[in-house]
Amino acid sequence: MDPIFPGAPPTLVPIVGSDKGFPVRRVYCVGRNYAEHAREMGASGREAPFFFAKPADALLTVAAGQTGQMPYPSRTNDLHHEIELVVALHSGGRDLGPDAAKQCVWGYAVGLDMTRRDLQAQAKSQGRPWDTGKGFDGAAPIGPLHARSSIGELMRGAIRLEVNGSVRQAGDLADMIWSVDEIIAELSTYFELKAGDLVFTGTPAGVAAVGRTDLLVASVAGLTPLQVRIV
Ligand code: MN
Repeated sequence: MDPIFPGAPPTLVPIVGSDKGFPVRRVYCVGRNYAEHAREMGASGREAPFFFAKPADALLTVAAGQTGQMPYPSRTNDLHHEIELVVALHSGGRDLGPDAAKQCVWGYAVGLDMTRRDLQAQAKSQGRPWDTGKGFDGAAPIGPLHARSSIGELMRGAIRLEVNGSVRQAGDLADMIWSVDEIIAELSTYFELKAGDLVFTGTPAGVAAVGRTDLLVASVAGLTPLQVRIV
């Protein structure tokens, strides 16, 4: 049958060195994957990773050399930044082992898991879903993807966020509690993963609020930085 109106096209993430885009299927996110951030959010130790999701059309794609414009979202007075390494999958499956999980990785980008922290905190305290805190329009700025076939596997390297030139978050990918392969393997026990899925892999310590006119520069060693202004 024909659709009664044209469906929304897939979100395409720009790819470094290509005029083609990466078509996004789902956006998964990992909570508390760096020990210091887990502690600042009230957890301790190596708890099993937990997951939430954002709509694919909540992505705010930013090409290399551009500054993304992120509207300050409604219904919050506490918009927080969380810089994260984003992993893009070109294949998937269910119940993957770590070796099979590794084969699913197509490439990497720098992302921001923007969070209406006041709404998330309210949802946590009331045992309600996180969607209003995490899944709003523009909640997932992402820079251009780099193919793993070009840059190799990312397992360590600086991850850093500056706001108006001051360092807010600084860590190392090696400090992840659960590695990229372990995250994908665990995630695949909950959901069948497929080509086009993105995984936001958690944030180091230092999350804090931003306001209108703030300029965020997010970087991961080896990747094109992501620059976003809150408007
Ligand atoms: Mn996050």
